[in-house]
Amino acid sequence: MITICDVGPRDGLQNEKDIVPPETRAELINRLAATGLRRIEAVSFVRDDAVPQMAGAEEVVARIERRDGVEYAGLVLNEKGFQRFQSSVLDRMNVTLAATETFNQRNANASLEEAKVRASTMVRARPQKTTVTLSVAFGCPFEGRVDPAVVAGLVEHFRELGAEEIVLADTIGVATPGQVKSLVEETKADGFHGHNTRNTGFANAYAALEAGATTFDASIGGLGGCPFAPRATGNIATEDLVYMLEGDGVETGIDLDALISISEWLETLLGRPLEGQVYRAGSFSRE
Ligand code: ZN
Repeated sequence: MITICDVGPRDGLQNEKDIVPPETRAELINRLAATGLRRIEAVSFVRDDAVPQMAGAEEVVARIERRDGVEYAGLVLNEKGFQRFQSSVLDRMNVTLAATETFNQRNANASLEEAKVRASTMVRARPQKTTVTLSVAFGCPFEGRVDPAVVAGLVEHFRELGAEEIVLADTIGVATPGQVKSLVEETKADGFHGHNTRNTGFANAYAALEAGATTFDASIGGLGGCPFAPRATGNIATEDLVYMLEGDGVETGIDLDALISISEWLETLLGRPLEGQVYRAGSFSRE
C-alpha cells in the first residue's frame, strides 16, 4: 500500500495568513488521524518569531491523541530544530534542504554544501526514522529549472547515509508530469511532494506513482499557498488525491468521506472555500 502523508497541519497552515492556535492545530491532527491516514506532518520546529503560524509546536504535540498505526512527523531545518525534535515524542523526522544554491542562501542562510553538511549531521544522529525532503527539486524561484544531475547526486548521498526515505518536492508548483516521471525514475526517490500552483499537481503525483514513488504528501482541502506566489493555491488536496488513486484501484486505506467532513469543518473554521474540489463536488460511488 502507498503512504499518503497529510502535511496540512504544517505546510498548509504555515502558508495561511491567519494564525491558527495550537489547540486547533492539534484538533486538526486528531481528526486527520481518525481517517485512516498513516502519516501526518504535525509540526515544524522553527523559530516562533520567524514563522508565527508554527509557534507552539511542543503544545501541539502535547495535545495529540496518539493513534496506533499513525506516524506523527516533525519538520526540522537546523540544529536547534533537531534538538527540539529529539525532546519530542514524534515518530519521524523530516529533514529538509533545498536542491539549489540560492534557495538555501535565502531560506537557510547557508550554501548548498553547508546545507548538505548540516542535514547529513542530523541524518547520521537521527533518533527516529528520517525522511529527507529535497525542496525545489524541479524548479527554483531564483535559479529556474534545476539540473537533474544535482538532485540525483543529493539523493544518492542521503541514501548512502541511511536516510529511510527521500522525497522530491515541487515546492513552488512548477513541475510537469514528464519531468516528474523522469526524475523519480532516475533517482528512485521514494516520494513526491507536490503543490498545485499551476494545476499540474495531481498529474505530477500520478506521474510519480507510475515512476515508482510510494509516499505522497498532500494537504487536507489543499490548504496552504506558495510563499513565492502570493495568490497561488497550496499543496495538492488530500481528498482529491485519495479520490483519484482509489478510483484507479490504488489502495490508500483512507476513508474519503471522513476527509471530506474535515474539509467542511475547515471551511467554516477559516471562513473561506478551500482549494480542494472533491469536498465541494462530493464523492462518487462506482458500485
Ligand atoms: Zn510544500
